[in-house]
Amino acid sequence: MNKFTLLVVMLMCFAFAKAQKSTIVQDSTILRTIYNQNLTNSKSYEWLDHLSNNIGGRLSGSPQAQMAVEYTLNELKKVTDTAYLQSVMVPKWTRGTSELAYIQTADGTQMKVNVCALGGSIATPANGLSAQIVEVEGIDDLEKLGKDKINGKIVFYNRPMEATKIQTFDAYGGCVDQRYSGAAAAAEYGAVGVVVRSMNLRMDDFPHTGAMSYGDLAMEKYIPAAAISTNDAEKLHGELEKQTDLKFFLKQDCENHGEVESFNVIGEIKGAEFPDEVIVVGGHLDSWDLGDGSHDDGAGVVQSMQVLETIKSLNYKPKRTIRAVLFMNEENGLRGANAYAAAAAQKDQKHILALESDAGGFTPRGFGFDTTPTQMQQINSWQPLFKPYLIHYFEIGGSGADVGPLKDTGAVLAGLRPDSQRYFDYHHASNDTFDAVNKRELELGAATMSSLVYLFDKYGQSKKLKK
Ligand SMILES: [Zn+2]
Repeated sequence: MNKFTLLVVMLMCFAFAKAQKSTIVQDSTILRTIYNQNLTNSKSYEWLDHLSNNIGGRLSGSPQAQMAVEYTLNELKKVTDTAYLQSVMVPKWTRGTSELAYIQTADGTQMKVNVCALGGSIATPANGLSAQIVEVEGIDDLEKLGKDKINGKIVFYNRPMEATKIQTFDAYGGCVDQRYSGAAAAAEYGAVGVVVRSMNLRMDDFPHTGAMSYGDLAMEKYIPAAAISTNDAEKLHGELEKQTDLKFFLKQDCENHGEVESFNVIGEIKGAEFPDEVIVVGGHLDSWDLGDGSHDDGAGVVQSMQVLETIKSLNYKPKRTIRAVLFMNEENGLRGANAYAAAAAQKDQKHILALESDAGGFTPRGFGFDTTPTQMQQINSWQPLFKPYLIHYFEIGGSGADVGPLKDTGAVLAGLRPDSQRYFDYHHASNDTFDAVNKRELELGAATMSSLVYLFDKYGQSKKLKK
């Protein structure tokens, strides 16, 4: 290399480094603007207020779910170029009147417990169901006990969420099989009903509902399934220690109504340079019926809408198409997510990023990603930009249920990861209400999502990965 070439190379390196530095400065300024906007002039909290307090719990197929569809469509129209509905068939299940349950001791004492039917369960006979109750630590215990000890009884699943797991979603994953498949498994052994300890790390009186499935069990073998609060699970456990032939009474009149039409709600801002490349942000519009679904997943819905509102109000012109998808039926079927992914595949739409928020409206910590290590390198290079906002969690794994079916589109799948320590205090219970969501924490989540969307919009996927 002669001196002249060396000088040119040095100058080029210098110019490149300078350009790179100025890009970082520019990006950090834009992130600052995004956070400022979200913390001072965001619509997310107002939208959540309406969804929670004016509409309420939005179980798939319910009038409230339909009201939420209409409301969010209307609001999305105000902050996007286009907003539209995507039809999807969903299961409809209704809880009916309030459930009733109590422990019956040999001396005739009745101890009332806080109970709720699991979503998808059948009713008990009209007069209720009374039977001896047998406690197990999990589905595996059924085999150990055998048909003799289970037949004609109510099975009580009492394996708690593990307190030592810092990632509370792992603790949830460690025992949710009792709720989802417990009834189908126990029915095979002749059980007449199941009662599940609520998926909750805290000791309190709230029963937590959630989806259950009878799998491929013959319909005539279906048995009612309910959840009791953690306090009552402890009480029942204590009573069973005193008296092994303890009886339990359960009465619920929930009902499955087949399928009805519902909708995903979609709003988008068209990309200026690459309109065919799509970035999805989403949460699920349906919720359980006990509370108003503020954390699960009203928060994710309004944060996703807020990403578009932020873009609009900052007058930012995205290169790529930014699309908010409010998925229907995450809780008991995932029909909305599957319908969206099927439509995207049919149109062969290229998705760059699919970012979901469905872990509560708590203080954001970062993101979980489902992508390749190469793509993670690019994502990790953005970490310093998030440092001022205390966003530090960038790990592989745990994106989310609704974006999962989009894996084949080539999208980087991502899930906002808020602090999860208090999430299961509220999850699927009657205390998941508007007052449980902190405005500022909700806004920080939306700002964090908007920032990741901005970076993916600007840089696209890592070049090596481009199709
Ligand atoms: Zn959820």
